[in-house]
Amino acid sequence: GQCITHCPVGALSERDDTEKVWDAIENKDKIVVAQVAPAVRAAWGEELGLTDEDAPVGKIFDALKRMGVNYVFDTVFSADLTIMEESTEFIKRFTSGELKERPMFTSCCPGWVRFVKTQFPYMVNYLSTAKSPQQMFGAVMKTYFAEKLGVSPDQIFTLSIMPCVAKKGEREMDLFYGEYAGHDVDAVLTTRELVKMIRSAHIRPDTLVEIPGDSPMHAGTGAGVIFGATGGVMEAALRTAYFTLKGENPPADAFKAVRSGGFQENAGVQEAEFAIGDIKLRTAAVSGLGNTRRLLQQIERGEVHYDFVEVMACPGGCVGGGGQPIHDGEELAFTRGRKLYALDAKAKLRYSHENPDIREIYSDFFGKPMSHKAHMLLHTEHWKNN
Ligand code: SF4
Repeated sequence: GQCITHCPVGALSERDDTEKVWDAIENKDKIVVAQVAPAVRAAWGEELGLTDEDAPVGKIFDALKRMGVNYVFDTVFSADLTIMEESTEFIKRFTSGELKERPMFTSCCPGWVRFVKTQFPYMVNYLSTAKSPQQMFGAVMKTYFAEKLGVSPDQIFTLSIMPCVAKKGEREMDLFYGEYAGHDVDAVLTTRELVKMIRSAHIRPDTLVEIPGDSPMHAGTGAGVIFGATGGVMEAALRTAYFTLKGENPPADAFKAVRSGGFQENAGVQEAEFAIGDIKLRTAAVSGLGNTRRLLQQIERGEVHYDFVEVMACPGGCVGGGGQPIHDGEELAFTRGRKLYALDAKAKLRYSHENPDIREIYSDFFGKPMSHKAHMLLHTEHWKNN
């Protein structure tokens, strides 16, 4: 069982938030708006006896709506939004010379963010300021979506279904933007808690049908899907960074070198070098906190140098997260990761910047990546959040 034994963030003390969600569903003054993370779809069916083909995310949407959730969305949309912000931030920090000494680190994994704050606090400023997809989606639901519905932000109850116990702590982060009450995200359920709710609602898994998510935060790309597997955030960000720098798309698999070794268990760090025009980029993707500690020590000693580093606390990335179903003695993270890469390979859109709903949210609401409004709603300062 990877979770209880390997979860870096304390699955043993997991708090049960299912009652809080039932209360919000019963409260007629609340509009319950849910997001479902990419890694959940690769695992929830295991627990309910559904095969992969039988457990698409659309059936999770059906289950949520039958339980009384008002709107359902796929976190793949906001993974694309995170890619837009984070790749723009990376190009800005890289070209300004800020990354000469140390790389920019991804910051979408709260297990890693907590680790760096406590173990390597002098590296905290090198974290990307982009919020994770979970937090970005919460902010979008309480602003852009509330405006579309014509309701006030505090009528919206935001729920996320995550593969991750640490995401329950991430929702406590400080916000720049005080206009809406409380937090980006009001409740976080793990994959296991979702299954528990489906069971307690007496929904028979074989009666679930695939339904589409709601609009307007609907479309997602293959780049957003691979966020759930080690190397995926980096690969997705490089696809869009390339486009931003060159004005044309790279081949969709141009950056697959960041993923390959990550799929052999305990491969540790996956390094890769790329040239985009005159720019040479050195990247690394690492998962598991033991591997991460070794990598940071090497960076500190000057033995290695990278420009951009992706870190995921759970071995294999979020697909191996501590909120996923537990199977004693089985390591399913890498199998589940391959499922996400297969979905990306089949996806019609494989670049976050081509997501039509992402284009719309920028033209309607945010203007452009890292605009003032985007900064206020989609970024954070990690040194502030303790
Ligand atoms: Fe959570 Fe994913 Fe980080 Fe694991 S790798 S702690 S599941 S965000």
